[in-house]
Amino acid sequence: VAVPIPEMLIGLDPDQRAAAALRSGPLLIVAGPGTGKTRTLTHRIAHLVTEHGVAPEQCLAITFTRKAAGEMIDRLHTLIPDRARELTVTTFHAFGLRVLRERHRDAGLTADFQVADDARRLEVLTEVLGDEQSARRILPELSRVRRSPQPMDPETVKALDGYLARLRELDLVDFDDLVGLPVELLEADPDLVVEFRERYRWISVDEYQDIDAMQYRLLRLLAPAGGNVTAIGDPDQAIYRFRGADVGFFLRFQQDFPSAETIQLTRNYRSDPHILTGAMQAVRPSTLVPDRVLMPVGDHPEPRKIGVHEAPNEHAEAAFVTRTIDGLLGGSSFHSRDSGRADGDGDGGIGFADVAVLYRTAAQAEALMDAFARAGYPYQRHSHDRLVERPGVRDLLTELTFASPATAAPDVPAALRRAAETVLARTSTLERSERSAELYSAIDLLRSLAAECGSDLERFRQELLLGAEVDALDPRADRVSLLTLHAAKGLEFPVVFIVGCEEGLLPFRWPGEDLGDEDLAEERRLFFVGMTRAQRMLYLTHAAERTWRGQSRTGSGSPFLSSLDGSVYDRLDGEGVRRRRRVDQLTLM
Ligand code: ATP
Ligand code: MG
Repeated sequence: VAVPIPEMLIGLDPDQRAAAALRSGPLLIVAGPGTGKTRTLTHRIAHLVTEHGVAPEQCLAITFTRKAAGEMIDRLHTLIPDRARELTVTTFHAFGLRVLRERHRDAGLTADFQVADDARRLEVLTEVLGDEQSARRILPELSRVRRSPQPMDPETVKALDGYLARLRELDLVDFDDLVGLPVELLEADPDLVVEFRERYRWISVDEYQDIDAMQYRLLRLLAPAGGNVTAIGDPDQAIYRFRGADVGFFLRFQQDFPSAETIQLTRNYRSDPHILTGAMQAVRPSTLVPDRVLMPVGDHPEPRKIGVHEAPNEHAEAAFVTRTIDGLLGGSSFHSRDSGRADGDGDGGIGFADVAVLYRTAAQAEALMDAFARAGYPYQRHSHDRLVERPGVRDLLTELTFASPATAAPDVPAALRRAAETVLARTSTLERSERSAELYSAIDLLRSLAAECGSDLERFRQELLLGAEVDALDPRADRVSLLTLHAAKGLEFPVVFIVGCEEGLLPFRWPGEDLGDEDLAEERRLFFVGMTRAQRMLYLTHAAERTWRGQSRTGSGSPFLSSLDGSVYDRLDGEGVRRRRRVDQLTLM
């Protein structure tokens, strides 16, 4: 007799279902890109609530970006509309902020403490050290040592102590404090640990491969060794080592939580077969999951090969991207798409929203933006940096902080425009055009966030302080997405270009610098992350000559490209393209 599938497990494959149905205890879900990790996690939570009677307010789900948290909340609202509001779905930093708001007195803060942005941090450190140049040099170092402990020289120790003391005097916390202070509070107070463990008895963490030492300490405090903690991720997508993340925490999950079950997901719902095979070949020399099984699912009537193209320089590369998009637009390339697949653009033809162009360094966006401007293509550009680090955003935030109580604007978008007029009225005529370009590009970036926040200015300010640029990405906007490879994590697009696939950029290397094995492995994983964003078409391009930081340098193709077997890609710099180029030139004449 067939047993009916519980409602919340419908739409999951057998492995996903097993992972979602497991009731209690620690669980590690190891799975490659596009296997439905995020999907499984949301269904699991919904199932716990509806089938096992778990109280939603006892569920804590942690992700790494506010965007990812937002998407999980949306999906949970669909699955369990009446209960979703009671769940806590958040990032480590936003969770830490919540703890601090509740326990501010224990941390020596008033109820009105503020989160310092980088400009404020620099001011504080400058005040402590007495000179701005040293402050600029030491500030990034302070973040590094706090996220992953390492030996410090006496100068750094002194600077850190003085800086933290002064921050507290000013009733400020910084970004690193948001996780660090809750850890200190919990480590100092066993009763508090008990209280939090009772409050959040069901904990899940997505993208666990990118957890850093401080976040790990927080998780261990919240989750007892035999607790209901689900970690989900893919060691081969660990790409944030430079920020202090350590994939070692993923690899030792079974030691930390000895009773843990491990479940693998092996079906990839995202990418066409050649793309998936190519990506697996690319990561293999550095893989942390040597026995990985990853198979494409679904009908692939005419799977396309990966396109590899060499351009003479970065402008020609950008022209290739534009020309290729032009060829795809309005075409019925995806007409035969299997409608059972998830993303529902089965009615043929691609739009700008279906295309992403990925690159290793943010500076590579310049040539693309030029080409897009000329072609009249709309785009949105996002890096993985924090929002407040983007020029213009900080000015807007400062302006909003000081102006908001007095001049209450009807809604956030209006307040933003006012803030920009912001700022401009005080700018000298000389600098005005540059500043206004910065500010309006920032406003454009914040467009969807601002709309989302409606009239809740305080929420918007918090989004700005805690958010990453990529949180502002609007997947529905009819624009091409220009993204750093890091920012593209977790996302998917029917058509993906990775530009700058060449020695020096992928793997990235400062001139004259040698890459360690670990650095090289991480670069390779980053390439893997990029390739696996693609659903139907993937183009890898490189330039024979490129201007980089004002200097021209010649480059050969990325060594990662030579990991690809000839059967998964086509070289696109053959006759077809050359003839086409000649036609373009004729048209120009
Ligand atoms: P990444 O490692 O890139 O974060 P992921 O493992 O989190 O990937 P998801 O984003 O959850 O993968 O899913 C990838 C795609 O596959 C999504 O479009 C999702 O809707 C689809 N998908 C996942 N599981 C299934 C399924 N059982 N049936 C149909 N589609 C699915
Ligand atoms: Mg995911």
